Amino acid sequence: MPEPDDIKPTAPLDLSAILEARPPSDPARRIYANRNLDMGSIEAVGFDMDYTVAQYHQRAMDELSVRMTVDKLIANHGYPEEIRQIPIDYDFIIRGLVVDKETGHIFKLDEHRMVGRCYHGYTPLPEEQRKALYGRKPIRFTGERYSFVDTLFSLSEITLVAGIIQHYEGQGQKLPWTYRQLFDDIRHSIDEAHADDSLKTEILADLPKYIVKDSDLGPTLHKLRSVGKRLFLLTNSEWFYTNAVMSYLLDEALPFYHSWRDYFDFVGVRARKPGFFVGREPFIELSEEGEHGEEITRYKRRGIYWGGNIQALEAMLKLSGDEILYVGDHMYGDILRSKKSGWWRTALVVQEMRESIHLTHKNMDQLKRIRQLEQAASRLDDDINYHLTLLKSLGRVQQLIVALTSPETMVIDATRERAREELNRKRELLKQTLAELEKVEAAVDHDFNRYWGRIFRERNERSWFGAQVQSYADIYTGQVSNFLAYSPGQLFRAPREDMPHERE
Ligand code: IMP
Ligand code: MG
Repeated sequence: MPEPDDIKPTAPLDLSAILEARPPSDPARRIYANRNLDMGSIEAVGFDMDYTVAQYHQRAMDELSVRMTVDKLIANHGYPEEIRQIPIDYDFIIRGLVVDKETGHIFKLDEHRMVGRCYHGYTPLPEEQRKALYGRKPIRFTGERYSFVDTLFSLSEITLVAGIIQHYEGQGQKLPWTYRQLFDDIRHSIDEAHADDSLKTEILADLPKYIVKDSDLGPTLHKLRSVGKRLFLLTNSEWFYTNAVMSYLLDEALPFYHSWRDYFDFVGVRARKPGFFVGREPFIELSEEGEHGEEITRYKRRGIYWGGNIQALEAMLKLSGDEILYVGDHMYGDILRSKKSGWWRTALVVQEMRESIHLTHKNMDQLKRIRQLEQAASRLDDDINYHLTLLKSLGRVQQLIVALTSPETMVIDATRERAREELNRKRELLKQTLAELEKVEAAVDHDFNRYWGRIFRERNERSWFGAQVQSYADIYTGQVSNFLAYSPGQLFRAPREDMPHERE
């Protein structure tokens, strides 16, 4: 996946122009609506930090997190030095995959939670095995068996699981650990790298390497503030990290915002989302130096707060859920929980959209061809069914009248013969149509990701990730600064969705 450069301003900076709304012509800079959202009725806009306000150079982050995880596996979990040499394929990483901890298989789900593409290591699982194991019913996430990996911070765990399995089993050796143990050790190691700040120490030592600087970010936040909306930051990161990253992104970005803190009415750190949306932890005031103060029930403008919970925040803001828009990147922790627990309005930032839209447009002719072929296949299916039924009924009629009159049976014979020829012709056509469909679809999918295809789709269905985006995000977009091109009172309108029986 090509790395994004730092994002340059969409136009020369003219603060009066910030207030104009010009609909973006670049589809990667648009905001897409699943449900109507009237920004005019939104009083406060909350932002998650990591992967939302602060986007990361994904390849650099994946390499860092693989390196740190391998370090921890060796240092804390007794893994051999040999694992440092294992080739890890970074193309294997996409969001929304599932690990089966019992078998070590990794797969992608369609919108009905049925298993689609499936790999063991970096090797596709044979079709019969996939069907026998998962073909009958949807995957359920209630037990311990499956892990759905959708946080951008930990996508690298998937390719590490696959790479290590491939390394041992590809050479005919038995994996020295159970699949579950391997997955759990990797998961714990990533957790440790986050918890002991070793990961963040490396990021802070070279912020330009890891964090995407977006020159439109300051103007975007200013535009929202300029119509009186209150802005807040609500992140799971601790204060020292939040302060360093936000300073890098926003300090001195605009002439009259000296510090990043000037953009926000309220800064909440170490929020423990998704727990924030269901728990009762109080807010603790923090000093600029990060020292803990008193529990609070009223917020001071420009305050920094630690912990907290959704009810306390709504009470302090004196707002109800539908007056708050929360912008985040994590489907469960930011979007699903804030919607389900507080009925907040939600905007999902999907950083993969930039590449996904670029590839969609590049493959537009092939995607149109796929739709044509699907329609043609469905018409041929109908024709084949018609001819099969015709042949059957003519056969029955012939049996009934055969003894009576031979001229009629000859007419029926001729009709049956024509129907048979037509049936064979249509079957051949269907075979060719399906073969072309498979070829075009495979080429398009390969262009997106050679292992997994498109992130939002699984063959002719939406993917489980795509379905979740539609169910829980009121609006979604590639980056926070895409709000810049819209009016702060914009009505985002969802396209009308027809049910199958309402379509032509
Ligand atoms: P947010 O997206 O701004 O709410 O913050 C994400 C925070 O969660 C960052 O501080 C990450 O270090 C932390 N984080 C992300 N993934 C993991 C993990 O797998 N284990 C522990 N912490 C994580
Ligand atoms: Mg985040």
